[in-house]
Amino acid sequence: MQTHEIRKRFLDHFVAAGHTEIPSASLVLDDPNLLFVNAGMVPFKPYFLGERTPESPRATSIQKCVRTLDIEEVGITTRHNTFFQMAGNFSFGDYFKREAIAFAWSLLTNPVADGGFGIDPTRLWPTVYLDDDEAEAIWRDEIGVPAERIQRRGMKDNYWSMGVPGPCGPCSEIFYDRGPEYGVEGGPEADEDRYIEIWNLVFMQNERGEGGTKDDYPILGPLPRPNIDTGMGIERVATILQGVDNVYETDLLKPVIDTAARLTGRAYGAGGEDGHAADVRFRVIADHARTAVMLISDEITPGNDGRGYVLRRLLRRIVRSARLLGADQPTMGDFVDTVIATMSPSYPVLAEKASSIRATAVAEEQAFLRTLADGSKLFDEAVTATRDAGSTVITGSKAFALHDTYGFPIDLTLEMAAEAGLSVDEQGFTDLMAEQRRRAQADAKGKKTGHAEESVYREFLDRGPTEFTGFDELVSDATV
Ligand code: ATP
Ligand code: MG
Ligand code: MG
Ligand code: MG
Repeated sequence: MQTHEIRKRFLDHFVAAGHTEIPSASLVLDDPNLLFVNAGMVPFKPYFLGERTPESPRATSIQKCVRTLDIEEVGITTRHNTFFQMAGNFSFGDYFKREAIAFAWSLLTNPVADGGFGIDPTRLWPTVYLDDDEAEAIWRDEIGVPAERIQRRGMKDNYWSMGVPGPCGPCSEIFYDRGPEYGVEGGPEADEDRYIEIWNLVFMQNERGEGGTKDDYPILGPLPRPNIDTGMGIERVATILQGVDNVYETDLLKPVIDTAARLTGRAYGAGGEDGHAADVRFRVIADHARTAVMLISDEITPGNDGRGYVLRRLLRRIVRSARLLGADQPTMGDFVDTVIATMSPSYPVLAEKASSIRATAVAEEQAFLRTLADGSKLFDEAVTATRDAGSTVITGSKAFALHDTYGFPIDLTLEMAAEAGLSVDEQGFTDLMAEQRRRAQADAKGKKTGHAEESVYREFLDRGPTEFTGFDELVSDATV
């Protein structure tokens, strides 16, 4: 079943059950705590917080999401994208656990001919929160899932809050057993690679008080009217229904891998140790190209901080991955074209904006290729010098020179060093950066005419390798 069909069936199922279909919000909302929308419930927060009254007590949507926290997983696990589509159904003080569980179950297991996904029910494993006897009883007695396939999990996995005082409550998640070739038996508690999480049902029934930590906070008592918030990963369901190994091989992303294979002359899935490293790069390209297109389409442009830096980082990783796979010509334009072709049936605005999206991505590629060309010679010299000195550590001053002269971000130097089997004296680098900053400050005081622009640039370069995850969402990544 193609992804567009999965999206349509989801919405049809919930519209038929009285939900109002709400279009996806932009990836960027006016919320200083959130870099990007990372869950389907985010645009509905004012309803859950009681700040606004929804027009209808039941809603359904397929929300565009970006989770920068998951970037390290991309290409390595079978199931993490930076951009993905979260399908959800929401009840604002209307129905509760019983209906939410039944709606999810029927969509997943109804035969394809009846509008469902036709998933074999014996492969599904629900989880419930430690003390949520009510949810367990619904799964066991009303849905008919055998007790041994229902697992109880703690706060970290199965309890949800917005991270601030407000609604909170237990979750029930649905996992799909991919079979013994994906890992060990024993349900999601034992192995989350074999048992892939596809849907999170959040039962907002309590109120969280002030204080506490992410996994341990005061719960004040029950809400007067509980809510439902659910999130199903479209890409994960597509992986299962298309019988492919991972989210990057589904109908929306595989074409980008194919484009990369054509442009680099490398084969995807060739096997062997080398082949594994190459496959990760292919998957990174596919994932990041799509995320970059979706971000640019939501008016983000590459920049030196915040959202713009996330985009820059994604585009640069694409360029590097393509080169490491053997591309000696620019590739970005073709990647963007492929993403737009696969994604525009669901997001027609992509086709309308195609030429400007392409131009933005290609300009960044050109600039980065120049940086790489200029700096690579010095980098190679640094590698040779390090080896000649019988060392495996590139000195802080070499890393600093690369950075100062060629604008090589330290994370790039670290990455390239690792590929050469070397490390970098990061402390030495950081000390030199600090020293330079002190000098610049003293200078600026002396002269009074500060180089405003340069100092912004410095600040960006100074941030170093923690940059990418350093400003992640305040709302926990475990939220729906
Ligand atoms: P995981 O434990 O696999 O990282 P999660 O618990 O962080 O997932 P939730 O926050 O519960 O995920 O999000 C709801 C649903 O969205 C998940 O059940 C999954 O289907 C989907 N999802 C979450 N993160 C991703 C991702 N990075 N890529 C693709 N789908 C995702
Ligand atoms: Mg999870
Ligand atoms: Mg979850
Ligand atoms: Mg996660």
